[in-house]
Amino acid sequence: MTLDGWLVPELPEVETTRRGLEPLLVGQRIRAVIVRNRALRLPVPRRLPQLAAGATIRGLARRGKYLLVDCGVGTLILHLGMSGRLWVVKDGAAPAAHDHFDLVLGNGTVVRLRDPRRFGLVLWQAGDPLAHALLANIGPEPLSAGFGGNTLYAATRGRSSAIKHVLMDSHVVAGVGNIYANEALFRAGISPRTAAQRLSRGRCQVLAAKIRETLELAISAGGSSLRDYLRSDGKAGNYQSQFTVYDRAGEPCHRCATSIREIRQGQRSTFYCPKCQKA
Ligand SMILES: [Zn+2]
Repeated sequence: MTLDGWLVPELPEVETTRRGLEPLLVGQRIRAVIVRNRALRLPVPRRLPQLAAGATIRGLARRGKYLLVDCGVGTLILHLGMSGRLWVVKDGAAPAAHDHFDLVLGNGTVVRLRDPRRFGLVLWQAGDPLAHALLANIGPEPLSAGFGGNTLYAATRGRSSAIKHVLMDSHVVAGVGNIYANEALFRAGISPRTAAQRLSRGRCQVLAAKIRETLELAISAGGSSLRDYLRSDGKAGNYQSQFTVYDRAGEPCHRCATSIREIRQGQRSTFYCPKCQKA
C-alpha cells in the first residue's frame, strides 16, 4: 500500500504544532484526559488519565517527530504517526470518528488528537522522556548544532544504500521523512539514488545545510500540508506550492525546466530533476 498522496506529518508540521500549542498549554492544569480508543500504534496506557490529571504543564518540547508535554510528575509523549493532527477544539465540538484522545485543560481548552490511520502514539514516561525506548536512539536534531556536514559524513560511511533512504533513517538524523528528503536532495543537487557512502565530505556539508534550510523554510511557512492538515490555530494550511520536486512528476524543474522524474525507492515515491541532481 502506498502512502504517497497522503502527506505524512514531518518535523516542520510537528514543530508548527508545537509552536501553536505551547502558549495555550504551558502553565495550564490538566483537568482530564479522555481516551476514546486505546488502539494506536502502541496501546495508550490504561492509567494515563489518572497519571496526568491534576498535573500542571511545564513545557512543550519536540524531539524528532515526538511532542513531549512536560507534566512535572511525568511526560506525555505524543506522535502524529502517518495521519494524525492535534488541534484546539473550538466551541465544544463533539468528537468525530477518529478523535481518539482529548486533553482537557483547567481553563476549558480542549486539545484533540485525530488520527484516522492510528499510527500515532499517546504514551506516558515517568522519568527522563529522552530515555524512553522510542526516543533513546534517535539521531541528532537537524536544526541543532549537533548536526552538520561532519556528522552526516560520519553517519554515511559504510552505508551503500541510496542517500535518500539513509536520510529517512531516524538514527542518522531526526524527523526527516519522504517529503523533506526529496526537497533537500534537490536543493543540494544530489541524486537521491547516490550511494550514501560515495558522498564526499564537502557534499555532505552542502546536504546538511540544505536539510536545515529546507526544514526552516517549511517551518516558517507554517509547516507543509497534510491534505486536511489544520494548523493548531484551526486554520487550514496549504503550503504545497512551495515544493520544488515533491509531487511534481512531469512538471518543469524550477531551475532548468527539465521534467521532474518520479521513481520508487523502498515503497516510497522519489521525485528529482535528472539534470540538476548528480550522482
Ligand atoms: Zn533541473
